[in-house]
Amino acid sequence: MASEPNLSYEEVVIRELYEETILDHNRRPRNRGHIDGLKAEGYNPLCGDQVEVSLRITDGIIDAIAFEGHGCAISVASASLMTEAVKGKSPEEAKAIMRRFQALVTDTSGIEPDLDEFGDLAALAGVRALPVRIKCATLPWHALLAALAGDTAATTE
Ligand code: ZN
Repeated sequence: MASEPNLSYEEVVIRELYEETILDHNRRPRNRGHIDGLKAEGYNPLCGDQVEVSLRITDGIIDAIAFEGHGCAISVASASLMTEAVKGKSPEEAKAIMRRFQALVTDTSGIEPDLDEFGDLAALAGVRALPVRIKCATLPWHALLAALAGDTAATTE
């Protein structure tokens, strides 16, 4: 990330915490693997990221979700953070989280978002300053959406 001399000490600390979260989820992805159930694959040709999201819904709740694939640190971290964010949620709740997340990473208004509501997903907020990385961050979510819709392939277009 580009250095920005105008950041306060607190902003620098927060940024480093976020980077640490992304690096941690990239090094030790959560919920890596495959679940028998709904699944969809996503591919981001801009970066070469590939992800398969698979999940199981029991009693209206996503009670198991996993991902496989490979890609850049942001795509892997986003997939890992996503599985944690939507596990135990209903499909409708998961879609609502996706809509908020997508708005967060594509927002170009310059208005500081309220990151508290995003939990660990806030770690990816900095992606909106990196337009070429936005599709890396949203790819696993598109795969999730496709899987929930019963489709087997997702696109970031
Ligand atoms: Zn990528």
